[in-house]
Amino acid sequence: MVKKHDAIMIATGSWRSRRLDIPGEALAGVFSGLEFLFPIRAAHYCAPGVKAPDVAGKRITVVGAGHSAVDVAHGAVALGAAGVDMLYRRTRAEAPCGSLEIERLEASGVRWHEGCAPTRILGEERVAGIEFRRRDASGVALESLPADIVVTAIGEVATPPFAKELGLESVRKGEVRWLNMTAIENVFVAGDALTGPSKIGKAIYSGLRAARSLGNWLELKAENRQTEFAGDELISREADRFPGGPFKDAPRVRGL
Ligand SMILES: Cc1cc2nc3c(=O)[nH]c(=O)nc-3n(C[C@H](O)[C@H](O)[C@H](O)COP(=O)(O)OP(=O)(O)OC[C@H]3O[C@@H](n4cnc5c(N)ncnc54)[C@H](O)[C@@H]3O)c2cc1C
Repeated sequence: MVKKHDAIMIATGSWRSRRLDIPGEALAGVFSGLEFLFPIRAAHYCAPGVKAPDVAGKRITVVGAGHSAVDVAHGAVALGAAGVDMLYRRTRAEAPCGSLEIERLEASGVRWHEGCAPTRILGEERVAGIEFRRRDASGVALESLPADIVVTAIGEVATPPFAKELGLESVRKGEVRWLNMTAIENVFVAGDALTGPSKIGKAIYSGLRAARSLGNWLELKAENRQTEFAGDELISREADRFPGGPFKDAPRVRGL
């Protein structure tokens, strides 16, 4: 690909779910956030042959309080779950999805449990419940909830291909020859693949700046003028055209 194309942009996002690593996670009826959400979205938007999880009339426990966990809880309600419990290890004020989302979930019938850290998923072959440590003002107690399905939506991991070969660790630190350029000269990186899981706005901004950088590099390379801009002045100046002003994290340039 590198030889066949003038330039490549890698923006592969975060497509692997984190695991809880507790006993019982391999039981039938336990899903990661993405395993649960993907068939719902696929069935709705593009692959009617894909079957959404069979949730109707079942008790669902969602572990986590990020955007994925919120989507899972809304999805479970929409698919007719008998009840949805949401477990989060910290407080609602600390939930990554924000307290407004929690209020919305509660308004749709979801039960919110905070200070709850899962210790074990209960069941023989299938999920029967979840055990967790609840911490509140009165102390710490081991509790459990019955559940037919447990969805662990505790975050995703960025999945960039060839991370080592592309030297992505250095790009993350800003140690680059050119903004968003990887260790391979004509390969650029943007979005979650570069920053780790983030938010749509940040990922779009990252994509815009990387696209601008790639465009500048291609243009200058065609004229054999890259070295004139080793200090990234052009890129920085062009960046001013984006809403939000100039980039605040200009890379430390090693020289071309
Ligand atoms: C379930 C969930 C809910 C979210 N909800 C919110 C929210 O409400 N608000 C918010 O701000 N952010 C939310 N986020 C985060 C937000 O979606 C991401 O930060 C953003 O989409 C990242 O954009 P990206 O372009 O880097 O990657 P993505 O949007 O993930 O796009 C990556 C693309 O690359 C493709 N791809 C991956 N690997 C390969 C490969 N090897 N070859 C070819 N193609 C590949 C994928 O199929 C995908 O189309 C959510 C994330 C998840 C997972």
